[in-house]
Amino acid sequence: MTKIIIAIDGHSSCGKSSTAKGAAAKLGYTYIDTGAMYRAVTLYFHQKHISLTNESKVLKALDDINIEFRTDKNGKSLTVLNGVTVEDEIRKLYIANKVSQVSALGAVRKEMVAQQRKMGQKKGVVMDGRDIGSVVFPDAELKIFMTADPDIRAQRRQAELMAKGDLMSFEEVLENLKKRDHIDSTRKESPLIQVPDAQVIDTSDMTLEEQIEMVCIMAENEVKKLASAA
Ligand code: C5P
Repeated sequence: MTKIIIAIDGHSSCGKSSTAKGAAAKLGYTYIDTGAMYRAVTLYFHQKHISLTNESKVLKALDDINIEFRTDKNGKSLTVLNGVTVEDEIRKLYIANKVSQVSALGAVRKEMVAQQRKMGQKKGVVMDGRDIGSVVFPDAELKIFMTADPDIRAQRRQAELMAKGDLMSFEEVLENLKKRDHIDSTRKESPLIQVPDAQVIDTSDMTLEEQIEMVCIMAENEVKKLASAA
């Protein structure tokens, strides 16, 4: 069976990761959470007190960072930074509040994009992020742009954080989402854009199962198109 690259970009907390993860599992593809990579870099810079304006320190730190993904015994994907599982830590709000500044740095993006291209070179991947269809894999066979109403996104994110014991007000979560969307969409380096060949999914009124199903149908259609063109 032909395998393709599925690039999913879009706004913060509209269900990209859960959808990408679910679709990858159904299709037998590898899921790559590029946001987790930027979050892991942010955690490292935080732990080592790296100033974002100190270019040589940033470059040296990037050399010292190794990011991998592992799967635990329940099939959950874990982000591993220099051998240590950081999955829970990188989801906290103090990281979310800093990650967009870190991911706006050209040196950071260059390194992450190189790693992401390596991870996807054999195809059969679902990669979610902000620049996957525009920069990382501009030739991806399937490009999806996901979005949802900001209030709904903030409600979902707040519930997720609460389930992990992180109690945040709705306003605080909404503020973080809007700020991240703004920085991500207006930055100089690889801003979040909806590329013209992306198919849009608005998840405001959709369940996770419906989102996964929709991505799988779109993927099957692309594979069929490729097979009939061959
Ligand atoms: O996807 P997630 O919300 O975990 O991403 C965290 C942050 O990482 C985003 O707000 C964005 O600043 C950055 N990011 C990025 N490019 C990607 C993925 C994430 O700039 N491909």
